[in-house]
Amino acid sequence: MIETTLDIQAIRKDFPILQREVNGKPLVYLDNAATSQTPQQVIDVIVDYYKRYNANIHRGVHTLSQEATDAYEAARQKIQKHFNIAHSREVIFTSGTTHGINLVASGSTSFLKEGDEILVSAMEHHSNIVPWQMLCGRTGATLKVVPMNLEGELVMEEYHNLLSDKTKLVFCNHVSNALGTINPIEEIIEAAHKVGAAVLIDGAQAAAHIKADLQALDVDFYTVSAHKMCGPTGVGMLYGKEEWLKKLPPYQGGGEMIAEVTFEKTTYADLPHKFEAGTPNICGGIAFGAALDYMNSISFDAIAQYEDELVRYATEQLLAIDGLKIYGTATHKTSVISFNIEGVHPYDIGTIVDKLGIAVRTGHHCAQPIMDFYQIPGTVRASFSFYNTKEEVDKLVEGVTRARNMLL
Ligand SMILES: *Cc1c(COP(=O)(O)O)cnc(C)c1O
Repeated sequence: MIETTLDIQAIRKDFPILQREVNGKPLVYLDNAATSQTPQQVIDVIVDYYKRYNANIHRGVHTLSQEATDAYEAARQKIQKHFNIAHSREVIFTSGTTHGINLVASGSTSFLKEGDEILVSAMEHHSNIVPWQMLCGRTGATLKVVPMNLEGELVMEEYHNLLSDKTKLVFCNHVSNALGTINPIEEIIEAAHKVGAAVLIDGAQAAAHIKADLQALDVDFYTVSAHKMCGPTGVGMLYGKEEWLKKLPPYQGGGEMIAEVTFEKTTYADLPHKFEAGTPNICGGIAFGAALDYMNSISFDAIAQYEDELVRYATEQLLAIDGLKIYGTATHKTSVISFNIEGVHPYDIGTIVDKLGIAVRTGHHCAQPIMDFYQIPGTVRASFSFYNTKEEVDKLVEGVTRARNMLL
């Protein structure tokens, strides 16, 4: 039995894609850590935008432009409220987490010098590794890695040892997309601030499961992607504390981000527009707001409780399969199960279960250092959302068992 206060069957009806078949079987979508599905309520907002008020924002006096501007700015306020952010000017619309991280990494060039240190965790997504390596290349700063243990938890003792007055920036994901670990970001942020370092938390994987209170966390930067929380692709948000956003130079130059331009000198627009050069993903931003409305109408507490039960059940059932090993067994984890079967390549399992209509991810999940740590080529990753069911978990277990028996 899986306990929940949610009406999962009613929720599933909100997602048209869940009705489709794949290879003649009902779709079982378990790749939510890569992208989540979109409810009709959000699809309607997208269609309505293009049908009724598609226009460029912030610069038109005409009615359509004003309607689009109002809806876009209302979405910014929804994001502000959802993440308990002090000011809407601290909410920067981006194209997603990768964009947000690159914006901060690029802007940090002017603050860093040789001898400074940047700490990243051992379980980062490539998008939270490569921009910092590039930053170190530009500035001469050194990248240091906070190690993890076999359970897939950060070794916090080592983190505290690595922190020093040389540490200028600390980067960590809130939830690991490859292992599901929920990292102790409260402790990470507090300790970093004691040595005067700023902290960026990559919330891409956490945002669909945990409603983060950014003021309570006192974090300096936090990034999310709408497409991992029932919104469309190509839009996300970067939160930055106002003091930091004022210090960082603009990321890109262009329209929207200026106050005044002459050939001699340009002055930049106030926050948040200073970081929003060019025509943004207007429809995407509005739909992002609708996705937050949708998820909040369900309740994050109920979502977290149900997903925990689902993951606990799936873990139990999968572990009953001969030779199956789960990577990432942290005490605090959410919604991701990474596994392999001894003697079988993860890709082969993924291919066979796809024939049964089951979508899982196989490979390194944009986190090659984690795979190197476990000395494996990759894993099969099943990742869950609140619209998944116990029956779907049973189908996964059946499919993986079948794949094992075929391949061994
Ligand atoms: C998905 C993900 C990213 C990258 O997000 P994009 O939307 O591709 O920019 C970064 N970090 C984590 C932890 C993720 O899960």
